Amino acid sequence: MSKEIKVGVIGCGAIGRQHIARLMNTIPETRVVAVADYYQPSAQAVAEQYGITCCATGEELIARPEVEAVLVTSADPSHAGYVLECIKAGKFVFCEKPLAQTAQECEEIIRAEVAGGRRLVQVGFMRRYDRGYAAMKQAIESGEIGAPLMIHSCHRNMSQAPGFATDYAVTRVAIHEIDISRWLLDDEYATAQVLAVRQSKNTQGDWLNPQIMMLTTRSGQRIDVEVQTDGAYAYDIQCQVVGEDGTVSLPDPSAVVKRAGAACSFPIMTDWSQRFIEAYDIEFDAWAKALLNGAPDGPSAWDGYVACVTGDALILSRQTGKPEAIELMEKPSIY
Ligand code: NAP
Repeated sequence: MSKEIKVGVIGCGAIGRQHIARLMNTIPETRVVAVADYYQPSAQAVAEQYGITCCATGEELIARPEVEAVLVTSADPSHAGYVLECIKAGKFVFCEKPLAQTAQECEEIIRAEVAGGRRLVQVGFMRRYDRGYAAMKQAIESGEIGAPLMIHSCHRNMSQAPGFATDYAVTRVAIHEIDISRWLLDDEYATAQVLAVRQSKNTQGDWLNPQIMMLTTRSGQRIDVEVQTDGAYAYDIQCQVVGEDGTVSLPDPSAVVKRAGAACSFPIMTDWSQRFIEAYDIEFDAWAKALLNGAPDGPSAWDGYVACVTGDALILSRQTGKPEAIELMEKPSIY
C-alpha cells in the first residue's frame, strides 16, 4: 500500500459525490483515482471534474491494478455483490450501510473474508465516529453511570424521497440505532419487536409512521427506538443511556443559544448530511489511517450482519405482533 491510498468509488450519487470530495480534499491519506456508476453521465461528470478514470462498470473498477481500496456508495441492492468482488480481488472495501439486503448475503461475505484470513471490509456506520456518541461510550466505559440498564432513543426525519416504504424505517433509518445501541452497550441482541402506535397525519405516503422498535440484549438491557420517518419538526437524533448510578445523553450539536422574547432556544438541523458531517470526516480519516497500518478497524462485516439479522427480526415482528428472537451465527475470531 502506497503512502497515499488510491481509492475507486462505485456510485456517484448524493453521498458518493460527498465522499469523493472528502477523500480528495479533506483526508490527506487518500486520493480517488477511478469512479463508476450505473448512470454513466453521473460518473463521467465526476471523472471530468477531478481528471480521473471513468470505468464502465463497478467490476472493471475493482479489477483496475491502480485501485488499492474501493468505496461502495451505489444503491443498496448492489452492495453485497461489489463487496464480494473486492474480497475476491483481495482489496480493502468500505461499504456504505447496509452491507447487504439479506442475512444470507452477509454470511457469504463473512465466509469469504474469513477464508482470506484477514479483515478487508468496513461498513459505514458513521455514528460511532460522532463526538457525542464517542463521549457517551467513554463515559459508560469509565463506569461513572454504573451498569447500563436501558437506552431511550429517537430518530426523527422531516421528509423522505418518493418510493419510501414501511420496511425502510428499519433497513434505512433505524439501522443506525441498531448499530449504535449495541456498540454503546457492548452486548448482542436477544429479541426485537415493533410496537403499534397512533399514526401521524404528517406522512406523505402510505407507510407506517411513526414506529416504535424495542430491542433486548443478552444481558437483559432494553432499548426503545422511536422512529419518525416523515413530518417531524427537524432532523432530530436523541439517545439517553440509563445506568444504575446515572444517565448519559447525546449532546445536541453545537449551536448558538439565543435568549430573546422571554425564551431560550437553539436551532436544530434539518438533515443527516449536516448533522453528521464531522462524523463522516473522522470516519474516513480513521479508515485511511487504519489501512495504512494494515487493516480496517471500524465497523466490520460482522456488524453489518448483526444489523441485517436484527432488521429482519424487527420486520418479522411487525407481521407477527410479538417479540422475535435474534439468532446469530458463531462469531468468527477475526472480528
Ligand atoms: P443515490 O443518490 O441514489 O446514489 C446512488 C448512485 O449509485 C446512483 O447514481 C445510482 O445510479 C448508482 N447505482 C445504483 N446501482 C448501481 C450499481 N449496481 N452499480 C453502480 N452504480 C449504481 O443514493 P445515495 O443517497 O447517495 O445513497 C447511496 C448509498 O449510501 C445507499 O446505500 C445509502 O443507504 C447509503 N447512505 C448512507 C448514509 C449514512 O448515513 N451512512 C447516508 C446516505 C446514504 P442510478 O440512479 O442510475 O440508479
